[in-house]
Amino acid sequence: MVSVNKETCIGCGACTAICEQVFEMKDGKASIKKSQDKSKIPCVKEAADACPVNAIKV
Ligand code: SF4
Repeated sequence: MVSVNKETCIGCGACTAICEQVFEMKDGKASIKKSQDKSKIPCVKEAADACPVNAIKV
């Protein structure tokens, strides 16, 4: 299950740029599109690695 910690997210937009199938910006924070498990989509890991504050858990 992919999740974004909205407390740590600084809204930089990197994850949405890397993996727009999964992430979207909502009220200045990253959010997961829909609720099903997205952890199998390859760019999720890439986005998690790129997050400057490690807010993405895969
Ligand atoms: S890359 Fe990390 S800090 Fe940037 S918007 Fe995504 S979750 Fe937030």
